[in-house]
Amino acid sequence: MTKPNYAGTTLNERLFAKGVLNEFDAAIGDKDRVKLIELLKAVEVDNPYGIANSLIGLGYQCWFCGGGIEPDGREALAICLSDLWAEQSDEPPTQMIYAHFDCAEMRMRGSSMALERDMLFASASET
Ligand SMILES: [Zn+2]
Repeated sequence: MTKPNYAGTTLNERLFAKGVLNEFDAAIGDKDRVKLIELLKAVEVDNPYGIANSLIGLGYQCWFCGGGIEPDGREALAICLSDLWAEQSDEPPTQMIYAHFDCAEMRMRGSSMALERDMLFASASET
């Protein structure tokens, strides 16, 4: 089986050639980011995440489960990573990752520390 040559073809041409155009349109309709990115990767576009964002809006994907994170959904975290030993005088480069709180709590269990839901989501604990 030969690998398709996608050079010089549009996204729609690629999706049609792969036979996933309807699936792609359905993924946009459902705002199914995971499926959309899978299809975009399958037709070898350069920036599947950027294209998905432009098609269905800026979205956050859970680092752990891969599911979408919606503002009106489950509690979620933005986790900022940087080099602990970077020079204090510099603004170290950072990487942001996003996760459902539940997913992070389950997967980031420390040996002596735990994520603190009550501190992170103060309003949720006040009743
Ligand atoms: Zn998750």
